[in-house]
Amino acid sequence: VGGTPALKKAIIGKFARENNLNYTPGQIIVGVGAKHVLFNALLASLDPGDEVIIPAPFWVSYPEMVTVAEGIPVIVQADAAQGFKMTALQLDAAITPKTKWLILNSPNNPTGAIYSPLELKELAEVLLRHPHVHIMTDDMYEHLRFDHVEYKTIAEVEPELFNRTLTVNGVSKAYAMTGWRIGYAGGDAELISAMNLIQGQSTTNPSSISQAAAVAALDGDQSCIDTMRHEYERRRNMMVEKLNECAGLQVTAPPGAFYLYVSCAGVIGKTTERGRTIFNEGDFVDYLLGEHNVATVPGEAFGLSPYFRVTFAVSDEDIIESCTRIKQACAGLTNKREEVA
Ligand code: PLP
Repeated sequence: VGGTPALKKAIIGKFARENNLNYTPGQIIVGVGAKHVLFNALLASLDPGDEVIIPAPFWVSYPEMVTVAEGIPVIVQADAAQGFKMTALQLDAAITPKTKWLILNSPNNPTGAIYSPLELKELAEVLLRHPHVHIMTDDMYEHLRFDHVEYKTIAEVEPELFNRTLTVNGVSKAYAMTGWRIGYAGGDAELISAMNLIQGQSTTNPSSISQAAAVAALDGDQSCIDTMRHEYERRRNMMVEKLNECAGLQVTAPPGAFYLYVSCAGVIGKTTERGRTIFNEGDFVDYLLGEHNVATVPGEAFGLSPYFRVTFAVSDEDIIESCTRIKQACAGLTNKREEVA
């Protein structure tokens, strides 16, 4: 149910090799993508009313999964001024006797923010003072890091948190194997066993063909990761440059993942060619889609406004074409005040 012995062995090897984390097969589970693993972990562990701390901006699925499992998402705002990262003080203030989990996601979707080992150490110091809180770290974008930014996962930074941490990863991003649907986690054997129970009564095992493919990915030549990392870095730089040329938009190059979280504060209050006022990011995203045929995701879905998210995991052609359209869209906006004058 929870993974073939061969894949568990490959995962144990990956965690030891890349994260200095040493697991036994009973501490490993394989699911139908990291999404499935995270969902099972929450279902297996949350009682109604348990709280889960989620720093915003967050990946859209976390609060929804917590809600389905009858938990309460506790959102902590981490804005651009703090690098989109939650501080130790904020974490301390958010913890209550009902807190069950902290969900960390580094590199982050949608901002690409990466917690430094020092920042993780500061969070860990708070967590050590609150032994009832467990840590779910979603490390999906671990390998998509740019500018030689240092990276560590929290259980590596603070080994005393090892038993309280569920370290989640997968092959979707590092090996561009999203469609194969393989994700995995290492964690406390009792939790893993409860997750196995839920998986056994719901989806059973992930496809054995996909599991064999994941063994090949994890145990094979890893040079493809660096090749894609360089490629994404080049596309990131190109897209950041182009979007910063758009009137009213602003974005800094993210250290990780393959998204840009673009501030559109500068277009709020402006008017479109058809006379519609852009009151918020939702209006802007609608305008981009409806009048310029570019699909983006509004920041409200990720818990921090006014932003929208785009991805640079697309071809050069698509980056150039979409940025040209966004630039035209921004240039087409006028200041109401100017019009009145
Ligand atoms: N975690 C994060 C932060 C993601 O962005 C995604 C996919 O977009 C996932 C997990 C899900 O990955 P998987 O394809 O392994 O389910």
